[in-house]
Amino acid sequence: MKRHVTPVAAATIAAFAAAMTLGAQAPSPQQAVDAAYAKYKTLQEGKNADYIPALAKVDPNLFGVALVTVDGKVFTAGDVRTEVSIQSISKVFTMAQVIQEQGLDAIEKRIGVDATGARFNSIIAVESVKVVQGTGAPEMNPLVNPGAISATSMVKGASSDEVWKKIIGFHNDSAGRQLTVLQDVYKSESDTNQRNQAIGALMLAYGYIKNNWQQAVDLYTRQCSIGVNAQDLANMAATLAAGGTNPVTKKKVLDTDKVPGVLAVMATAGLYDDSGKWLYHTGLPAKSGVGGGIIAVSPGKFGIAVVSPPLDDAGNSIRAQRAIADISNALGGNPYAGKKVGS
Ligand code: GLN
Repeated sequence: MKRHVTPVAAATIAAFAAAMTLGAQAPSPQQAVDAAYAKYKTLQEGKNADYIPALAKVDPNLFGVALVTVDGKVFTAGDVRTEVSIQSISKVFTMAQVIQEQGLDAIEKRIGVDATGARFNSIIAVESVKVVQGTGAPEMNPLVNPGAISATSMVKGASSDEVWKKIIGFHNDSAGRQLTVLQDVYKSESDTNQRNQAIGALMLAYGYIKNNWQQAVDLYTRQCSIGVNAQDLANMAATLAAGGTNPVTKKKVLDTDKVPGVLAVMATAGLYDDSGKWLYHTGLPAKSGVGGGIIAVSPGKFGIAVVSPPLDDAGNSIRAQRAIADISNALGGNPYAGKKVGS
């Protein structure tokens, strides 16, 4: 019997055949970066964060894509030079700094490494936090505001200045250049961060911050105001992809044996309550910031970053999510698409 092929089915088969042909020739990193940039450049979805007034003023059309391989090759498209505030992406590097200084246990015991399933600045998440039986450790993580403020409070130093030097130093080493604070963002957020102050005070009340919550909230606000561009962020992601060594400057930033723990928390909570969906589609540990940046790490392969301010409801950059997912999937970046040992 003759089989009937409908026009729709024929089109699907043709598209599939074309995809197979393309699949035979994987794109180069530059082709993948260029294709995603072209595809999403005109996408007009989402909205700049505006609960921090300075963020609402950033150009929503800013769009930069950068990929850095673990051997230090750089591929970019769009504006990779204009700075935005790093915002929550800094949480990864302050957590890493504490892990570097005090070990993986310190973060797990004081803050926890579990998803909260709540928004990044949820106070209910603090009130309803479950505690691990026996250890008393909270089931929270250093990538939501309460856990991040607590992580900042754990960086050791005799004065606020001394702590800050360590925090900015770790960010500088990861980015491979001297970064500075965007003072307008720092001021704007300091004037309007009553919610984070409440979180800081509550974290002290529950013993997850040991002292001086005001200093912790202030330094946290400052670290969120560090200016970075897509190139800086890609270098930072690539430092994690390359086992803790910045692949461009070759500087060792984080002990190699501490990197998997950092990446695990990013996989669990990097895109807040959308972390599961993100991981399902990409497999990549990642971290977003309300300034519009996202970093993602393909361990042993590359770090990638996109800056584009308009966000979705969860607070994650829309163009950044789409572009990173496309590029990584085109290049085989998903670590769960495992290769045989020794292959
Ligand atoms: N500084 C911001 C805040 O505390 C960071 C939030 C974010 O990037 N998700 O609200």
